[in-house]
Amino acid sequence: MSEKMNVVAIIDEKKVEIASVTKPVAKGKKVLINIKACGLCTWEQRAFTRENNMPLPFVGGHEISGVIEEIGDKLDSIQFPIGQKVVARLINVCGKCYYCRNGVENLCVEMNNLEDNEMEIFGTGGLGQYLLVDASQIYIMSHDISFEHATFAEPLACVVNSIDQGKIKFGDDVVIIGGGVMGMMHVILSKLRGAYVIISEPDEARRKLALELGADIAINPLKEDTVQIIKDLTQGRGADVVFNTTPIGAVAQQALEMVGYLGRLVYYSSMHPDNPVEISPNWLHKSQAIITGAVSPSVNSFHQSVQLISKGIVNPEKLISKVYNFNDAQKAFEDAVKPETFRIIVIND
Ligand SMILES: [Zn+2]
Ligand SMILES: [Zn+2]
Repeated sequence: MSEKMNVVAIIDEKKVEIASVTKPVAKGKKVLINIKACGLCTWEQRAFTRENNMPLPFVGGHEISGVIEEIGDKLDSIQFPIGQKVVARLINVCGKCYYCRNGVENLCVEMNNLEDNEMEIFGTGGLGQYLLVDASQIYIMSHDISFEHATFAEPLACVVNSIDQGKIKFGDDVVIIGGGVMGMMHVILSKLRGAYVIISEPDEARRKLALELGADIAINPLKEDTVQIIKDLTQGRGADVVFNTTPIGAVAQQALEMVGYLGRLVYYSSMHPDNPVEISPNWLHKSQAIITGAVSPSVNSFHQSVQLISKGIVNPEKLISKVYNFNDAQKAFEDAVKPETFRIIVIND
């Protein structure tokens, strides 16, 4: 008889349950990971609150860390040692579409197509005790890094991709709108790229944390005129790079007004609702500014993120609000959807 394992399944609006499914077996070029920790990202949170129309039951979890439990017969145990601490890039891409061929597999036309994955319960499966993944998706993590910290490889990789789109140069004036988990990681990486960092965030505690993480100036957009302050700080030019990490419609328009000539504006967050912004084509013509976005981590950004965490260059400790045991997943989800929390992590002892 095949062995069983537990998974955390969302079964209804704001309701999760521990379900028992068949424990997968490693074969071929697959690696079985014993999952030790998993972060609860916005995607899982929206499935929990039913803000997205994820089919239920649903086993989410894509920000995972763990150890290699078992490897398939086509894999080398020196490259993939049993017990090795690892993270995995749980994004399924087709490898054959126009974008995959262009080396931008984060824009794959079949991305997040979970229809033909072999999960017993639909989903990415990170919120389980074990997960079978292709060896190509495995990244080695240093044993010195905690499982909780290692789960940040995925969200940080998204931010690495965003920072790459912003093309920060040493000494650039960089504005980060929003001090959530993603905004904070933009602060950390912008500093590493040698920027002068200005954060705009209404919450005082978050502004304080942003300053601790390296921001040079923190603005309260509810009390101060952010656009004017940025103009004043830059002799009227506007910022070199602006990252919008908030989903708020009005901010999308304001972000545009913060950008100077030759500037780059990165719409990192998706917008809800997705209202159009107004832009003067003549301003674009004269400014040579670039307006772009960032979505999901590419293979390369994931690799860079793993290096940053594994080598201790980025320490995500302050972005963890609370750690819950696997069996307390219901409470973990309830906490994760509160606006004041950063990352909530679920661990398997
Ligand atoms: Zn995520
Ligand atoms: Zn593709």
